[in-house]
Amino acid sequence: MSALAVLAPRLGSGPRLDIDLGAVAANTRLLAGRATGELMAVVKADGFGHGALGVARTALAHGATRLGVTSLDEAWALRDAGLAVPLLSWLNPVDADWATAAARDVEVAVPSLEHLAAVAAAPGRHRVHLHVDAGMARDGADPACWAQLCRAARRAEQRGEVEVVGVMGHLGCADDPSDECNALGRTRFAWALETARATGLRPVDRHLASTAATLTDPRAHHTMSRVGAGLVGIDPSGTVALRAGLTLTAPLVSVRRVRAGTAVGYGHAHRTAHPTYLGLIPLGYADGLPRPASDRAEVLVRGARRPLVGRISMDQCVVDVGPGGAEPGETVTILGPGDDGEPTAADWAGWSDTIEHEVVTGLGARVRSRT
Ligand SMILES: *Cc1c(COP(=O)(O)O)cnc(C)c1O
Repeated sequence: MSALAVLAPRLGSGPRLDIDLGAVAANTRLLAGRATGELMAVVKADGFGHGALGVARTALAHGATRLGVTSLDEAWALRDAGLAVPLLSWLNPVDADWATAAARDVEVAVPSLEHLAAVAAAPGRHRVHLHVDAGMARDGADPACWAQLCRAARRAEQRGEVEVVGVMGHLGCADDPSDECNALGRTRFAWALETARATGLRPVDRHLASTAATLTDPRAHHTMSRVGAGLVGIDPSGTVALRAGLTLTAPLVSVRRVRAGTAVGYGHAHRTAHPTYLGLIPLGYADGLPRPASDRAEVLVRGARRPLVGRISMDQCVVDVGPGGAEPGETVTILGPGDDGEPTAADWAGWSDTIEHEVVTGLGARVRSRT
């Protein structure tokens, strides 16, 4: 048998992103147990990089009763796949396709008078959640306009154009339960609910908490929690051990022996201190490895952490596998739950001064299409 035949199967296997839906199931059960109301599974950004459909189906099978996304385009994909549960989309421009949303039974958030007018004017009967800014000056209606928005929504409801089924808000500092901004957000949300009731609205879904407040602050739960990060194993509050859902591995494309003082990669940003072996990994920043992690990150080679050396390039990076060497084709682990000592998303976030959310959602289409 030729050497090629032996090598071919190993060389043919490229980077792999394995998604552990069992972890999503366990995380969902834990979150559903903590939420005092219903659980909405937020599967925006392709389920935080874990595949929106898989995460949605798994979460619905383990305690979530609804789905949430940002854009209507994300909502269509879920409906196209046959998911018929209640579904909310909360971030759309004023001229979005509200008629199709109504026809496909997608509930939409209304954060402004302009949105309300556009939704009400579109054909169909629209189930809407009025969105109040609970104190982060991002999405949601300015409290100064809230009463006016509630009155306009009530008139639209009386005309049969919309049905206000919900009121939503979002907390800006829930990852730090001790931050006083949380109490201000809860108070503002309670005021927004009162104002809505006083104008005659009867929103049955009242939701403020995402993952962090679901885990740390029952006072924010109301009738529903919207959780995304927690489903895929990220706890922004750092209070619960959730299970990570991604493992990223890659084969070493090549291994070379180098002398001490060898310059590695663009800008010669690294020089080897000792004679060693360098392994080439076919993943770079275009695959979502954050470039700021250059010369800081580690990967798992033969059960041990080994440093990435030199700058992470667009499509590739280099690991110093040490004097023991490694074989071309050998699998290295870039990121995983950490069970075998491999780096976690939290490690990568630390190396690149960001949060786990950005690491997992950044592992982009190229990695996923290869798997
Ligand atoms: C992303 C998002 C969520 C989910 O937040 P997690 O912290 O990921 O659970 C909830 N609500 C809104 C408005 C969001 O944008």
